Amino acid sequence: MEKTKYKYHLTPYAGRSSRTTCPNCKRQHCFSLYIDSENRPAGPEYGVCDHKKECGYSRYPSGKIDNSAFEPIKIEKVEPVYYTRQDVANYIANKLDNNLCKYLLTYCALDVHRLKNILRDYCVGSIDGGIIFWQIDEQFRIHRGKVMWYNPDGHRTKILSSDGTERGKIKAMWQFLKRDRKFEPEMCYFGQHLITLYPGKSIVLVESEKTAIIGAYFIPKYNWIATLSLNNFNAHRLNFLKEFQKAVIVCPDKDGYYKWAEQTEKIKRLMPELKIRVNDFIENGSGKEDLADLLLKKE
Ligand SMILES: [Zn+2]
Repeated sequence: MEKTKYKYHLTPYAGRSSRTTCPNCKRQHCFSLYIDSENRPAGPEYGVCDHKKECGYSRYPSGKIDNSAFEPIKIEKVEPVYYTRQDVANYIANKLDNNLCKYLLTYCALDVHRLKNILRDYCVGSIDGGIIFWQIDEQFRIHRGKVMWYNPDGHRTKILSSDGTERGKIKAMWQFLKRDRKFEPEMCYFGQHLITLYPGKSIVLVESEKTAIIGAYFIPKYNWIATLSLNNFNAHRLNFLKEFQKAVIVCPDKDGYYKWAEQTEKIKRLMPELKIRVNDFIENGSGKEDLADLLLKKE
């Protein structure tokens, strides 16, 4: 069967400048335009917004479009600048100095030495009372650092954004370290480096960094890797597993079950060499809880 050739494809990611303003949610640097083989966009309204959950805007050019008036997009290949091991080391000593770790140690009574070992594996640090989740790939390149704040009860700290909605308090390490965001590498999964560190272990994929850490504490025979968001679970992001031939167990949160189950089927078709399956304990299990809640209750 001949593969269908599409006239337009999405602009490949090459730093922030390769993304434009979304025509729907109006956020800047989050919209990938559809371009043709000469890098000419189909129009400012044709593309896909990165904010799949909150915005969801996506429009493929259909019908006859005359885009000859549009200037081709210059796809400038920006060489990514990774964070250094020293950047990570600078914040590791005080890794327990955030509310999430305090909650796990006091309220959930986790063992401090075992927790510390896990935090060391993930290279977790603390800054300004927030926890730093570094994204390190299988070649130990440090892509990004995401800082999240938690309340003493283990839930995310919420802040009011300018449009009046509440969102989780979050910051990126480039803001703290005053780095130019233009050179920041693309995201990767949290815990991706564990497959090199512990090559014998199978993988459990979860959505949040917190679930990965709690999972690693209670069921250490797996490498727990977090996708960071519901929409980041896809074949493109799983490419790093290709040569590792590992078994992957997908553990969605309760509100992401159907989406991830569907996505798993898609990935199976695209990556037949991968042994991937969904753990359906949430679907069949005791009910309305996420994996992290279930694990914390066990002890
Ligand atoms: Zn948008």
